[in-house]
Amino acid sequence: MTALQHALSAISLFFVTTLHAAAQSGIDPTLAAQIAIIPAIDNHAHPLLSPPAYATDRNFDALPVDNMEPATDAAGLRPDLPALHEAWQSIFHFNGNPPLDAAGLKQLEAAREATRREQGEAYATYILDRANIGTELANRVKLGIGVQPPRFRWVPYVDALLFPLDNSALAAATPDRKQFFPLEDKLREKYLQQANLKTLPPTLDLYLKQLVTPILEQQKSQGAVAEKFEIAYLRSFGFDDVPQPEAARIYATLLHTPHPDPAQYKRLQDFLFRYIAHECGRLNMPVHIHTTSGGGGYFDIAGDNPLLLEPLFNDTRLRKTNFVLLHGGWPFIHEIGSLLQKPNVYLDLSQQSLMISPRTMSTWLREWLELFPEKILYATDAYPYSQSMGWEEAAYIANQNIRTSLGMALTGMMQDKQITELQAEKLAHMVLRENAESLYKF
Ligand SMILES: [Zn+2]
Repeated sequence: MTALQHALSAISLFFVTTLHAAAQSGIDPTLAAQIAIIPAIDNHAHPLLSPPAYATDRNFDALPVDNMEPATDAAGLRPDLPALHEAWQSIFHFNGNPPLDAAGLKQLEAAREATRREQGEAYATYILDRANIGTELANRVKLGIGVQPPRFRWVPYVDALLFPLDNSALAAATPDRKQFFPLEDKLREKYLQQANLKTLPPTLDLYLKQLVTPILEQQKSQGAVAEKFEIAYLRSFGFDDVPQPEAARIYATLLHTPHPDPAQYKRLQDFLFRYIAHECGRLNMPVHIHTTSGGGGYFDIAGDNPLLLEPLFNDTRLRKTNFVLLHGGWPFIHEIGSLLQKPNVYLDLSQQSLMISPRTMSTWLREWLELFPEKILYATDAYPYSQSMGWEEAAYIANQNIRTSLGMALTGMMQDKQITELQAEKLAHMVLRENAESLYKF
């Protein structure tokens, strides 16, 4: 088949499967057809670079979670997920039934390799086309081959700037953090170089002026549209409002002290978090915060309760900063929804769109849509999860799941006469792209 024939057959397969799924799920068919054709803005994902950089790319995450001690994987991330079949077929023209054995995985890899060779530098945008994503926010340490504007927009990481002191005691807290803190230390070294500094400045004032602000400004000038915190992997939420003189004293006294007092160090991090959030507001970059139970068997779920962030959102000095809570907040579904009443707080559907069934997600989505519909953002969290599910399959499956759950939620609201068909279509456009367009001023 020619490329055009491939594209046409994929589009018709897409419509047939979408409408078939809609009929089975009780979604209004007119609405389903509308939802199916809107190219989405994906608020959060980790695309890999196109070939030839694909094979060696490690910049898809500041804290890659693929080397952690075993945890119990959510069922949606396991190799026997039925939805993988259609994703493999649509993206790689590979016919296989999950779970694949070793020989099947080899054949899948050969099919993927053939697609990568065929697509070359256009590979990453080809994946977006397969998943019906118009624009994807790429949460990466840096962009590269094939992952470039306008289809991809950059969201870098800033956690490294929160931890300028000796982190060996924090790293000792869990086996996961033992891996994470050296990665943050390395990233901060890179940021030092980028700011033309050889060592950390001796005072907090200089640290802010010579490192923190210049890095944020640099990233903004290089196309960053938001800044991402993975802080939930490194410590709990709950940021006290610490006066700058106190933070400055802690910084100057403890800068070269091994194992700094944890309570004092936390006060410094708390100050830095607010400073960075404030700077992001000045630079018109929303702040992305990981808010859901995260990867690994040592993740601090209680410390990740989004209500702990409320004092930040109620800080009048931070009202010019927009915050986007990533991943739907599970298990704190109702708590996170309540925070959307703050004018500067948004929520995205990433990760939940993979791990939670459309039926279950549609009930959460409906609750949020009934309350604050202009605050909900489509997102996949496409990520290289496993041999069976690369970022490609994850993008494809999350996209299907979101559109199905959105159709279910809106059909339910129509049937209950809460909204008209016209309003349902409007809400679909908002979640799939318009809310993101107004937040990022695309
Ligand atoms: Zn992510």
